[in-house]
Amino acid sequence: MTHNNNHVVIIGGGGTAIAIMYDLCLRGFKVTLIEKGELTSGTTGRHHGQLHCGARYAMGDKNIAKECMIESAILRNIAPNAIEYNMGMFVALNDDDMQYKDLFIQSCLDADIPAREIPTSLAFEYEKELNKNIKASVLVPDGTIDPWRLAISFAAGALKTKNAEIKTYHEVISINKKFNNIESVTVINHITHKKEIIKADAFINAGGPWSGKIAKLADIDLSVSPSPGTMLAAKKRISNMVVSRLHKAGDGDIIVPQRQLTIIGSTQWISDNPDINRVPQEDIDFLQQSAIDIFPSFKYLEYHTAWAAARPLFGKHNNTEDVRNLSRDFATIDHKINDNIDNMISIVGGKATTLRAMGEVVSDLLCKKMGLDIQCQTSTIILPNYREYYRRGYNGQTN
Ligand SMILES: Cc1cc2nc3c(=O)[nH]c(=O)nc-3n(C[C@H](O)[C@H](O)[C@H](O)COP(=O)(O)OP(=O)(O)OC[C@H]3O[C@@H](n4cnc5c(N)ncnc54)[C@H](O)[C@@H]3O)c2cc1C
Repeated sequence: MTHNNNHVVIIGGGGTAIAIMYDLCLRGFKVTLIEKGELTSGTTGRHHGQLHCGARYAMGDKNIAKECMIESAILRNIAPNAIEYNMGMFVALNDDDMQYKDLFIQSCLDADIPAREIPTSLAFEYEKELNKNIKASVLVPDGTIDPWRLAISFAAGALKTKNAEIKTYHEVISINKKFNNIESVTVINHITHKKEIIKADAFINAGGPWSGKIAKLADIDLSVSPSPGTMLAAKKRISNMVVSRLHKAGDGDIIVPQRQLTIIGSTQWISDNPDINRVPQEDIDFLQQSAIDIFPSFKYLEYHTAWAAARPLFGKHNNTEDVRNLSRDFATIDHKINDNIDNMISIVGGKATTLRAMGEVVSDLLCKKMGLDIQCQTSTIILPNYREYYRRGYNGQTN
């Protein structure tokens, strides 16, 4: 594919950075993506794996709910190898949940999400292990994402254009300014331990929960609250669908069938440090009990593992309740506006489900800044199979 002679450096190798790379490569940019570990080694490779149709957000934020509905349908079409369209079921376990039901269904319909109540007898047919005391159940078009395969399908799409270069195990250690521009980044290769300076026309900070730290390298104060959460996996699938509690979105209320596992998540706290090295025992106990409330036989499943990852939430927040109420939307920051740096954009927040849209918004902004009128193509082109990422002569990795 021909390119437009503009070179962009993207910092980060999670789903967001990879989706931006893919979009820009299709628009003809030459892109160098720099990731300090392996692709998806940050939050992207550790999330729950729910393909959100938006139902979870319908009562809190209609726009996010609508966006999830649109994006989940696009992903089902363009990334069939990474998505299992197994549907979602919201279940009411008590009278409080029941109070929520009608408004929940109406809010979903208002956000164009086709939610419908089904008889509990049918719910038990679909999900044999469900708690027999459930009072109501609502079907929605949720699904399961394979987080790694989804992101890597986008990476394969970028490499196919021949416009992408992917530098894994390279960490950006300084961002070098000249007047009001970023001129280059200095990276260290964690395999050879050599340093390298990489120049470009524009720089995108897509470092997820690390994006605040990355911005600091350019003396920019970017408000990011890394917000970790714990997930617990047990061996064997207990459900066919993604099963959620029919109540205000909270902790321990989503069960996702993922490969041969059942994952219950999550919890949420705040931390200055996106590198999470602890999984609180009380989280594990809480998640196990939450899963048992929905599927009593969960208590007989063999423990597989528990882990935590940090959400990249936009804004500075000091307590957990504050963070729970924080938007799951994403923010795109043009550093020309507040920081007087012409050629740097940061993107913070969002969800794995909305990675493609995030790529589109950042690429649109970059094109606008550069005075280029090049349209996004990512919503209709079917992505290559993730396996293509490893094809000989196709892979832009430079390790
Ligand atoms: C507990 C939990 C559950 C979730 N569940 C879901 C879900 O079910 N469905 C859903 O849609 N979303 C879910 N999410 C949200 C989703 O996981 C994230 O929004 C998404 O993965 C963020 O991707 P990212 O690319 O922005 O960040 P990341 O994947 O974290 O990528 C950032 C990358 O930047 C790299 N990096 C950092 N510093 C540097 C540097 N100096 N130089 C080079 N590279 C650097 C890191 O190594 C990392 O790989 C969940 C999140 C959490 C925390």
